[in-house]
Amino acid sequence: MKHYKIAAIPADGIGPEVIAAGLQALDALARRDGGFALDVTQFDWGSERYRQTGAMMPADGTAQLRAFDAIFFGAVGAPDVPDHITLWGLRLPICQGFDQYANVRPTRILPGIVSPLANIGPGDLDWVIVRENSEGEYSGHGGRAHKGLPEEVGTEVAIFTRVGVTRIMRYAFQLAQSRPRKFLTVVTKSNAQRFGMVMWDEIAAEVAQDFPDVTWDKMLVDAMTVRMVKNPRSLDTIVATNLHADILSDLAGALAGSLGVAPTANIDPERRYPSMFEPIHGSAFDITGKGIANPVATFWTAAQMLDHLGEPAAAQRMMRAVEKVCAESVMTPDVGGTATTQEVTDAVCEAIRAEN
Ligand code: ATP
Ligand code: MG
Repeated sequence: MKHYKIAAIPADGIGPEVIAAGLQALDALARRDGGFALDVTQFDWGSERYRQTGAMMPADGTAQLRAFDAIFFGAVGAPDVPDHITLWGLRLPICQGFDQYANVRPTRILPGIVSPLANIGPGDLDWVIVRENSEGEYSGHGGRAHKGLPEEVGTEVAIFTRVGVTRIMRYAFQLAQSRPRKFLTVVTKSNAQRFGMVMWDEIAAEVAQDFPDVTWDKMLVDAMTVRMVKNPRSLDTIVATNLHADILSDLAGALAGSLGVAPTANIDPERRYPSMFEPIHGSAFDITGKGIANPVATFWTAAQMLDHLGEPAAAQRMMRAVEKVCAESVMTPDVGGTATTQEVTDAVCEAIRAEN
């Protein structure tokens, strides 16, 4: 039997509620499958630790995580702790320290969930957005000169490297190749931005040579937003820069119905380090402690984690169970249901156990 070491970091707000739900479903899958076991270690890192010790995680935090096979992450953010502390104190050191350069966001309309788009239902929208997660517009370079004076200048420098663009492009082509449609859309803004974005286009064409069975096209990011709304069936795998994919994936999440169902994976494709799996939503303090947090995003990211660990059959079983439970309208209030987090979780665990 295979044993996988999982670091669970539930953190803030509804994070502990959805991670507990995710771990129950993972446990049901492992029991059902019998071929693998998850050894879970819980870490109490987050805003409460910051209040007590002045740090979100210990100084050797990433070193402690190094030995794990995957990181299962809840949410960070608290009303009384500044955003830059919650973000830079925990999530970003993990993403950057472990060079998780591919941020992967599957989007699909689950049965029973209503998209704000008319005439769009399950099967019509099935995308995976690959976000460059290590450089680009969020590389942190820039500055402000003559601060506060009338002649003040602020710069925000996007940095694209050949190594960085090539590796994300290669990952995206591989992912597209693994999906039935074998179709990739490369998003840039190379009409207005003439350097880094033109380099993206050129590198896409170079990498494409190695994937003759993948069909691909290019879109400018502005036109892409229109295509996502007007012609969602025409898209499959999508790759974009850190900033562009950040925006496009929020749009994708909205089109798929709710933040509560959207998952994400921060992946080191070379597997030098542990990858991190988390729901896209934040800590959602408005519903914390009420027992109504939607656990579906966390189930979905748990499926991504199983896939990454090399347990695709268990990952697919998880998604079949989630889709069955959604189709039966056992859903939390954010997607129009009346069920609690625990009721949805119990229904998913039962579906996992009952499946032939
Ligand atoms: P952060 O600042 O970390 O982004 P937030 O408090 O802004 O967190 P988000 O998680 O970004 O909250 O979500 C915005 C709103 O969407 C929440 O206030 C909540 O009402 C709703 N929401 C988010 N996630 C869920 C979920 N899993 N289940 C139900 N509702 C959710
Ligand atoms: Mg938010």
